[in-house]
Amino acid sequence: MPLGGGQSIGASCYFLKLGNSNILLDCGIGFKHGVPFAPNFHALLSTPYLQSLAQISQIFISHAHLDHAGWLPDFLMQSQSPAVCMTDMTFNLIDHQLSNFQQGDYSIKRELLNSVVTRVSYAQQIPFGKWRATFAQAGHIPGAMMTLLEFRNRRILYTGDYSIADTPFTSGCYFPDVDIDLLIMCGLHARHSSYRRLHGKLPFIVQKIKRLLKEGRSVFYRVRQLSKGIELLALLNSALNVPIYLDDFVLRLSERLEDQFIRIRRENNYPLGAAPKKYPNVVLSKDPRFPFDPRYERLDEDFALHDDFNDTVEFIKRINPKTAVLVHSPPSLDPFDATVEQVLMNDADCRTQFVFANDFETYVF
Ligand SMILES: [Zn+2]
Ligand SMILES: [Zn+2]
Repeated sequence: MPLGGGQSIGASCYFLKLGNSNILLDCGIGFKHGVPFAPNFHALLSTPYLQSLAQISQIFISHAHLDHAGWLPDFLMQSQSPAVCMTDMTFNLIDHQLSNFQQGDYSIKRELLNSVVTRVSYAQQIPFGKWRATFAQAGHIPGAMMTLLEFRNRRILYTGDYSIADTPFTSGCYFPDVDIDLLIMCGLHARHSSYRRLHGKLPFIVQKIKRLLKEGRSVFYRVRQLSKGIELLALLNSALNVPIYLDDFVLRLSERLEDQFIRIRRENNYPLGAAPKKYPNVVLSKDPRFPFDPRYERLDEDFALHDDFNDTVEFIKRINPKTAVLVHSPPSLDPFDATVEQVLMNDADCRTQFVFANDFETYVF
């Protein structure tokens, strides 16, 4: 049962009952018109499956983006202590974001997180009584993992956000070499057949920045999401020699990644406050209130770290599960768009039944 993030983005949280175990796959936060919202646990508590959130026994956090992990600390404040599994990198990145956005009770939440989180590695296997969990690299952003659950000879794979293609910091996802019965898949573009990765334009942004610098302009690039500043920084560092100034958020994020042996910064990277500045330069900052300065061109373009439509089709074909449950899969605004189901229906080798799971509806397999 999706408690959020069914056919939409935000507050991803999928309840899964395996025998007596009550599992959450992700526990994210959503934003509507700037107002945060949580997964809808009331919907779950009004089913016969659960009487109290204290009965949640395990939580698997796929990666550190807030739409998948942002509600976890609040959830832990009101539940008993479930086992929470995530990679070490995901833990560090969540910690980084929380320490940036939350004041006050953050230290309590951090202590809670520290006390319940089991930091897992790729290929690690953890038994939970009658079933076990194994983790695999998902691509997308550093630390992202897929979770494979094996229960009574059946295998369930939860992808979280993933990517087949390399991103600046990750190689593509790992394909499990076992038969998957049930695939629970974050299919951001599973209903957008016209979406090609080219639209994901990270290289275009780099080209544009290069062009502006050549014209003697400086560039202010606004970082919108956790990792996107450093992904761009990594590419810029290999393409440019001009100074690149980093705000506190990007700077400390780089340090976190460097703690995990991912080299980010180069000699031409400076803290945003460093003076005197050399021009032209590039500023990467999360703060939109960069003071007006005629020397700067402001860039605010986003880029993609997800699979495009063709990759999504390819992913499902390679896994070839009996059932694919698509979540995190907003509808298309283009009436001519097809879905992965419509495309794979005509593929003789594909054995997959598709379910586009809606929030608060129960699906039994
Ligand atoms: Zn993500
Ligand atoms: Zn997501």
